[in-house]
Amino acid sequence: MSKCTIIGAGIAGLMAAHTLQGQGWSVVVLDKGRGVGGRMATRRIDDGVFDHGAQFFTVRDPRIQKWVDSWLAEGIAVEWTRGFTNASGETQNDGHPRYRGAEGMTSIAKHLAKGLDIWLDQKVTKISAQNSLWEIQTEKVTFTSDMLIMTPPVPQSLALLDIGQVMLPAEARAALDEIEYHRCIAVMVLLHEPSGIPSPGGIQINDEPISWIGDNFQKGISGAYGATIHAAPIFSQTHWETDTIEVAHLLVEASEKWISADVKKFEVHRWRYSHPIQLHNESCLFVDSPAPLVFAGDAFAGPRVEGAALSGLSAAEKLLKSVK
Ligand SMILES: Cc1cc2nc3c(=O)[nH]c(=O)nc-3n(C[C@H](O)[C@H](O)[C@H](O)COP(=O)(O)OP(=O)(O)OC[C@H]3O[C@@H](n4cnc5c(N)ncnc54)[C@H](O)[C@@H]3O)c2cc1C
Repeated sequence: MSKCTIIGAGIAGLMAAHTLQGQGWSVVVLDKGRGVGGRMATRRIDDGVFDHGAQFFTVRDPRIQKWVDSWLAEGIAVEWTRGFTNASGETQNDGHPRYRGAEGMTSIAKHLAKGLDIWLDQKVTKISAQNSLWEIQTEKVTFTSDMLIMTPPVPQSLALLDIGQVMLPAEARAALDEIEYHRCIAVMVLLHEPSGIPSPGGIQINDEPISWIGDNFQKGISGAYGATIHAAPIFSQTHWETDTIEVAHLLVEASEKWISADVKKFEVHRWRYSHPIQLHNESCLFVDSPAPLVFAGDAFAGPRVEGAALSGLSAAEKLLKSVK
């Protein structure tokens, strides 16, 4: 039985784990977080529920549509809308479904996690190769396995391999070194009244200083009024070190036109690796030396949930083929 360790219980790692386990492999998934989902993240503030990473997902590829159809049938995912409001206040319906998790984006990850051997709160600190086996060291335990899939943002994966002095083939290393990410500062605001955001509850501004504002109440995941504000890349970069209260104040002020409600409470989350700026030209990257290793995630098959899911599937398929 082939043994594979997967780092990351985001959508890429979970899709890879399902595929390999479905083929009879022994799979262990490690994540540093306290929950699964990675950037598909949902958080509570009092009685408010907030998606603060990915807000929705779309599907174009029939391989992922199959999974989404089953999530819809089981009530794990729900169609949110077929179009959001733009910065001019116009809401457009382009006929293309935008989905959400039934109770927030983590619903999908929690569903996928069932039946998998997932170790949470396991921050990997070093990866090394010994006699063609991977040795994966966390703050608490050391795991060994024949194969490894790495789904953290690429610079984080490379740092772990560097600590363990793993030499990758030069061409692969050069391509991975190119991959960089935007940052995103997210502010979650619990509100006293409904926001002024028009139905269906999402504004794609795609400008500075704000890229997106989502109304978690209208979205249908929160019983309390609340909004998620995503800062755009330049604002996020410029204010990365800015004090939490000040950064929240600046973003709430910039969203006033849309939110127009008193803030009861807020929390800030800083996504150091939000969206990849450059993509690798393959849906995952396989290297067979010093032992089989696949890099996967949204930097490979597309900078969104669907791309990460596809990359996870590709990573599993690559490993399955490599042992045939
Ligand atoms: C603010 C924001 C808004 C977004 N909006 C959308 C959207 O609306 N629609 C959309 O489709 N996409 C959106 N995205 C992108 C989408 O969330 C990602 O493309 C997708 O979730 C990436 O999945 P992944 O599995 O590749 O990576 P991740 O979800 O990042 O998973 C990687 C996992 O690796 C773990 N990890 C990292 N380092 C270690 C370590 N040392 N040890 C153990 N575990 C580790 C992390 O904890 C994480 O769980 C958004 C992202 C952000 C941040």
